[in-house]
Amino acid sequence: MNYSLVVTVLMILLVIMGYFLFRPRVPIRLNRIFLALVTIATGMAAFEYAASRMNASAASRAPALWTVNLLFQIFYLSMSYMFFNFTVSYLDSRLLKRARLSVLAPAVYYPCLAILLSTPVTGIVFRIREGWRAGPLINMIFFNGIAYILFSTIAVLRHIRELGFFETASLLFLQAILLAGNLIRMLMPEYTVNGAFTLAALIVVFISFVNPDRYLAEQGYIFNLPALRAMLEENQRLRRHCRVLGFTIRNYSEHREIFGGRQTEEAMTGINRWLKESFPSMAAFYMRSGNFALVGENRPDMTAVREQVRERFSRPWPISGGELRMAVAFVEADTETLDTSGESLINTLMISLDEISRGDRHDESRSLTESLIELNRKLEIRQRLEKALDEDGLEVFLQPLVDCETGKLIAAEALVRLRDEAGRLIRPDLFITMAEREGYIARLGEQVLTRVCRFIRDHDMEAMGVRWINVNLSPVQFLSRDVPEAFARILAEYGVDEKMIHLEITEQSIIDFALLQDQILALHEKGFEFVLDDYGSGYSNLSRVRQYPFTNIKIDMEVIRSYCRNPDPLLPALVQAFREMRLSVTAEGIESREMAQTVREIGCNYLQGYYYSPPLPMKEFTELKL
Ligand code: C2E
Ligand code: MG
Ligand code: MG
Repeated sequence: MNYSLVVTVLMILLVIMGYFLFRPRVPIRLNRIFLALVTIATGMAAFEYAASRMNASAASRAPALWTVNLLFQIFYLSMSYMFFNFTVSYLDSRLLKRARLSVLAPAVYYPCLAILLSTPVTGIVFRIREGWRAGPLINMIFFNGIAYILFSTIAVLRHIRELGFFETASLLFLQAILLAGNLIRMLMPEYTVNGAFTLAALIVVFISFVNPDRYLAEQGYIFNLPALRAMLEENQRLRRHCRVLGFTIRNYSEHREIFGGRQTEEAMTGINRWLKESFPSMAAFYMRSGNFALVGENRPDMTAVREQVRERFSRPWPISGGELRMAVAFVEADTETLDTSGESLINTLMISLDEISRGDRHDESRSLTESLIELNRKLEIRQRLEKALDEDGLEVFLQPLVDCETGKLIAAEALVRLRDEAGRLIRPDLFITMAEREGYIARLGEQVLTRVCRFIRDHDMEAMGVRWINVNLSPVQFLSRDVPEAFARILAEYGVDEKMIHLEITEQSIIDFALLQDQILALHEKGFEFVLDDYGSGYSNLSRVRQYPFTNIKIDMEVIRSYCRNPDPLLPALVQAFREMRLSVTAEGIESREMAQTVREIGCNYLQGYYYSPPLPMKEFTELKL
């Protein structure tokens, strides 16, 4: 064998190993396997060289020949097995489940190893008798190698749809190199080039999969978000528990704006270094935008860790030309008490960190369990909402409005309802805000209006005493669609007169309504009437009320409630003012006969509230006697 080839192979292996060992490595299985691979490859190259020299030399003694040849073959067997383990581990980590082939893993390696170790007695693989002689199973190590290449290839091909092009190409290329190495060595044993093929395979693995740089944050040698994901997912898969302390710099983006990007980055680098030095037994992560995490696997005392971090942050961080003071907030999680996937743990962690960073929440520290419950609930609501919208599954309840003069039913308000899996009602404010944010509100609004129109078409409104139905309108609805067009179309479809529908807009939303004025006026021209909802809950402004074509004002139930508890001259004057502006007034949230009496006295026209009836399913509404 060529001496310079072995030296080259060994040198490159040492460089890779050195680079790998001196960089911080995420404590995951893939990294441990890679380290084992480099070690085995080094041993194999060294003993392959030693064996080929000594086998060719007449001066070699039998015990030495036995030792180097056995060791070379053991390393060779183990290496094929280890490459297979690497492929399976990688697939596990990517597909977040255990690849089925992993149970097959040891079925070839261990029998081969046993046969090899029996060789000094049986001479089955090779013999040392007046030098080295091949035995009947001399090609066993290659068959072992080819079997594992086959297993790996099958495993990769089975999951080819879930893998990206680059990963698939790298994994298959890896098998091709290994196969070529085995075949050449088997068919042409005089060319001991196997070390070079192994080296090429290791470089493919290194570049494509385990380069430590892909897991390092730019600032100061701690791990990044993909590293945290890899570690938590692996812990989850192997059912290993860990504790996580996430923390965030409060108002990080303001800090950046005030102090500039460079100074802030400098401070982050300082924090990262401090974390690494102060908590050597834990893995430290920096996930950009002032978010950090510490992960410990042996039930570390996270309260003490948190106090230590808090204490350090009570002092400033040095930066060039000054220092920076920053406040932190914490999120804690213990995977032992959390039943969730690594992925959703990360998502929740990031969302919670964002929330506490912006100061949406004022608690300095919170547990991830609560956030997770909240998040899961939100996800459930979203799924139910999407399903209801697709399947026309939203319900609309009706709540009566009562005429003060006659004490009889005069109208109704349509209130949308959504049920969760268990059939319980979900609070509308929860899913309506969500629908607004996620772009579903226009469809929701049209579905509600359709339901109401169908109800009007199918029932005798006059006999029921219902003169109109109030439908709530979200201002966000206007942004996505041509509402006047869509509403007119729905009404025409059911033959409903525009006068039957009164549209409620809340007072809070009217503040930024200038944009929507055209559509409101267009709707008004088509014949829809407008109601100002929840008056008194926002920045009430009488002059603004006059800019829009309202015909009715609904006084917010909190205002009514506080007046009934504690009458003052303000509300009567307000109602009076509205009436003088030719606006009718509805009092919301009437819960008792006394309240009804009180608001009637100050001049309200219509009353709505639990005292008369809660919102009812449409069928029950038709049976209502008022
Ligand atoms: P809102 O338009 O002010 O509706 C009145 C709310 O007060 C309803 O709550 C109703 O159930 C409740 N309520 C009625 N009488 C009483 C009472 O005597 N005491 C108390 N404590 N509450 C009473 P709900 O149904 O939970 O609706 C909440 C809000 O969700 C509504 O407030 C409205 O802004 C919005 N909303 C409901 N349906 C729709 C819809 O179809 N589209 C849009 N855009 N928003 C809707
Ligand atoms: Mg309303
Ligand atoms: Mg209201």
